[in-house]
Amino acid sequence: MGERNWAGNFEYGAPIAHPSTLSELRDAVVAAPSVRALGSRHTFNDLADDDGLLVSTAGLPSTVRIDEEARTVTVGGGARYGDLAQTLQQSGWALHNLASLPHISVAGAIATATHGSGDRNGNLASAVAGMRILRADGETVDLARGDARFAGAVVHLGALGVVTEVTLDIRPTFDVRQRLFERLPWDAVLGEFDRVTSAAYSVSLFTTWNEDAVSLAWLKERDGDPTDSVDEFFGATALTAPRHMIPTMDVRNTTEQLGVYGPWSERLAHFRFEFTPSNGEEIQSEYLVPRANAVEAIRAVRELAPLIAPLLQVSEIRTVAADDLWLSSAYDTDAVGLHFTWLRDQAGVEAVLPAIEDALLPLGARPHWGKVYVDRENRVPGLYPKLDDFAALAADFDPAGKFRNGFLRRLLG
Ligand SMILES: Cc1cc2nc3c(=O)[nH]c(=O)nc-3n(C[C@H](O)[C@H](O)[C@H](O)COP(=O)(O)OP(=O)(O)OC[C@H]3O[C@@H](n4cnc5c(N)ncnc54)[C@H](O)[C@@H]3O)c2cc1C
Repeated sequence: MGERNWAGNFEYGAPIAHPSTLSELRDAVVAAPSVRALGSRHTFNDLADDDGLLVSTAGLPSTVRIDEEARTVTVGGGARYGDLAQTLQQSGWALHNLASLPHISVAGAIATATHGSGDRNGNLASAVAGMRILRADGETVDLARGDARFAGAVVHLGALGVVTEVTLDIRPTFDVRQRLFERLPWDAVLGEFDRVTSAAYSVSLFTTWNEDAVSLAWLKERDGDPTDSVDEFFGATALTAPRHMIPTMDVRNTTEQLGVYGPWSERLAHFRFEFTPSNGEEIQSEYLVPRANAVEAIRAVRELAPLIAPLLQVSEIRTVAADDLWLSSAYDTDAVGLHFTWLRDQAGVEAVLPAIEDALLPLGARPHWGKVYVDRENRVPGLYPKLDDFAALAADFDPAGKFRNGFLRRLLG
């Protein structure tokens, strides 16, 4: 049996090479007729697979270089956010946001427009200031913000080459506290969506859709931002004991709650870096809806609750600020992510997704590139106005299509 992704729901078709130096990586890329980079394996679909060879970035050098004047950090593409966050925090610096899990590789997360939450927080790719890309011919190309090809290249689905270095914007370190509230009335979510999601630096709402109230509102508040400490949030009640978003899971895996301020690096992700989940018993899907359609989209998914509930562990609603990155799910629009953590039942999930997609894709929802979606009617290409430009960019970087896999052939033709 071949090697699998983190969730175990996908078996890679290609063998995996483990270069430990950039010259080993270059030799492997140049020699292989077909190749793709593999990050920390947290993608749930065949995006990371290849017809020929996968090259893992996990063992490549990942030294961290902070440029205090430029307010940037440069790190190897295979570095994990959790390691980078610790180093930055020790030096007094911060990233603007993190995903729920800090174990994800930097280049792999950026490749798929991975995001956290926050009305004013762009996704993780929006912090990219520069990238070094190893192309199919063994040459490296440096791109920086402002270059003509930059906005097309940042969210790249692995189509351009192997990203060996990423330069990210940083800011002075800041503290964050997490407060959780239970039983947020649907009327508040649907009637006052903007006030609810703008109430903190990052707001996540957790639901199983079939409840009479949203089970958890999870607020991450920056020290110094105007806030109040009342025990009530739009009718929801403050928790007095820590809680996992999935009631059956161990709460010790979650970052510290109950309003205790601590460094951003230990609060912005939902899960602690020191607990290393080696594999998962779940599948994830997510659809990022233009913010203007978010309430309609939430109503539509609630209608589907009886279909969804038997397969669902939990859903999370998050917000993402607009950016100008061509393949970003927040390209040209503030977006709201409707996320589903499913039981690991691939066939069951794929049977339910068409109904969700029929409800959400007409509202402009873009599926998360790294999670499970079906797109039976091939509607996804039409959701990206710059897709043809991206196809041309990919052909320019990689004329022979060495980095083109089945996923990209479906998407780009
Ligand atoms: C438990 C869990 C929690 C998650 N939480 C979130 C979340 O909070 N928010 C969110 O948006 N998503 C989330 N995701 C999805 C995840 O962030 C994305 O799937 C992400 O792309 C995974 O990164 P990876 O390094 O594991 O990439 P992989 O799965 O290894 O690869 C993903 C893609 O990136 C490419 N790639 C990887 N490294 C490189 C490189 N160096 N150069 C070029 N291409 C490269 C691969 O070829 C592939 O196309 C989560 C996933 C899991 C399993």
